Amino acid sequence: MAFDTLTLDRQELVLKRAEPIAPYTTFGIGGPADVLVEVYTERALQQVVREAISTRTRWLLIGGGSNLLVGDTGFRGLVIVNRIEHLSVNGARIVAGAGADLGEVVEAARENSLSGIEFAIDIPGTVGGAIRGNAGAFGRSVGDISTRVRLLEGTELVDRTPAELGFAYRHSNLKLNDHIVVEAEFQLQPGDRSEMDRIMGQHAAQRARRKEKGLHTAGCFFKNPILADGQKVAAGQLLEAAGAKEIREGGAGVHAYHANYIVNHGGASATEVLRVAREMKRRVEESAGITLEEEVMVVMDPTRDGAV
Ligand SMILES: Cc1cc2nc3c(=O)[nH]c(=O)nc-3n(C[C@H](O)[C@H](O)[C@H](O)COP(=O)(O)OP(=O)(O)OC[C@H]3O[C@@H](n4cnc5c(N)ncnc54)[C@H](O)[C@@H]3O)c2cc1C
Repeated sequence: MAFDTLTLDRQELVLKRAEPIAPYTTFGIGGPADVLVEVYTERALQQVVREAISTRTRWLLIGGGSNLLVGDTGFRGLVIVNRIEHLSVNGARIVAGAGADLGEVVEAARENSLSGIEFAIDIPGTVGGAIRGNAGAFGRSVGDISTRVRLLEGTELVDRTPAELGFAYRHSNLKLNDHIVVEAEFQLQPGDRSEMDRIMGQHAAQRARRKEKGLHTAGCFFKNPILADGQKVAAGQLLEAAGAKEIREGGAGVHAYHANYIVNHGGASATEVLRVAREMKRRVEESAGITLEEEVMVVMDPTRDGAV
């Protein structure tokens, strides 16, 4: 896998070989990628994907790496880090490159007194990652406010509507294919700045109680399960009741302030994180008869990373 034919300069694309993936994830875990490219423009992304398709190279896309667990032996193939970060405000709409931080979109909305995205304050990661997983908090998610999403489907750029993306709880159709979010448009409404500040302050204070800032974690490891009667239960509560907070394996353990977070306390391997996750799942199955489903995307190769 050479990628020597890529012709763009460093302002558009940076290529590294045998690059450790750990620093590109909030867990701080992950061995080397054969090749890692950081793409700064739509054109660079298109060129890289075209090359990957024509050389039949598998790829892994990373945004903020805040919902990702990569194995200790890394990734055989190409890692694409999305750095397409443009952002513009047009009336009550914000258009952002998929590599822009979701937090920057929230900040732009606040500065322009545009309401509707307050729920997203302090959700880490990029616009692209948020769209793919329909990130949300406090009962709302990005799918509720997005009006257009530009995708790279194969080598073609296509604009899609939210209906086409099939947003649901922590889900979009992008989880079923390898289409790449390039840009998203959000529809907000003119709002009252002081009221927005008040709501964001409340949300931020609630999140601060989880003591999550600066932690090596990927946030909630499991989705909140939806029961047969349609009711959603907080996985964190089930885990807390099941005594999950005491679980620890090597450098990985459950967060003392949120039973659905696994934390890399230092030097944890991906395998240790998965062992913690397996024990969390087992305890909830045993105590509540509910099988939790992973929210974090796990990229591991069982033949190389070993058994969990
Ligand atoms: C402390 C903490 C708190 C969190 N709180 C919340 C919360 O309240 N609500 C919530 O929903 N999430 C939360 N998360 C999880 C995480 O922030 C979200 O899932 C976030 O949207 C992931 O974005 P990312 O750019 O980091 O994605 P990454 O982790 O980089 O990638 C996640 C997945 O999305 C794919 N992906 C990334 N970019 C693109 C793209 N441009 N096109 C297509 N696919 C793409 C990747 O291939 C991967 O499969 C939290 C995480 C942490 C660490």
